[in-house]
Amino acid sequence: MRGTIPIFARHAQRGGEKGAVPCGRTLPRESPVHEVSIVQALIEHVEQEVRQAGHTGRVVRLDLAIGRLSGASPDAIRFAYELLAPGTLVAAAELRIEEPLAVACCRGCGGRTPIEELVDRCPACGSPEITIEEGRDLLLRSIELEDEGPSQNDE
Ligand SMILES: [Zn+2]
Repeated sequence: MRGTIPIFARHAQRGGEKGAVPCGRTLPRESPVHEVSIVQALIEHVEQEVRQAGHTGRVVRLDLAIGRLSGASPDAIRFAYELLAPGTLVAAAELRIEEPLAVACCRGCGGRTPIEELVDRCPACGSPEITIEEGRDLLLRSIELEDEGPSQNDE
């Protein structure tokens, strides 16, 4: 089962607008509660997808992409996952997490610069005409399911 399912997607924001990013402001630290609700939504999504596909095998792997600027902590996501996965369809699934960088796309020079932190100017030419793409979303990239075999070793 392939495809990209947004768990939560923040709309791409335009950088460089006056007042859009106050000076010296850092991204707020998210509380663990935030990650717990993300993981709850994630597991619900997976169960829904698997049910819709009419699959009865177990989920063996989930691939997540947690953007560097998404505000979600991969460690906290893992922690919440270990807390919430038991007793669900994903109880035996391995969680793989990628952390894609955001990209500053510049209308001034046409450059696409990978960034680790929110910027309000193009790192290449200094133009404020930039758009931040990617790196802000938390995506479920794929769900890998166990093959449905005729015999299963249930414990
Ligand atoms: Zn530029």
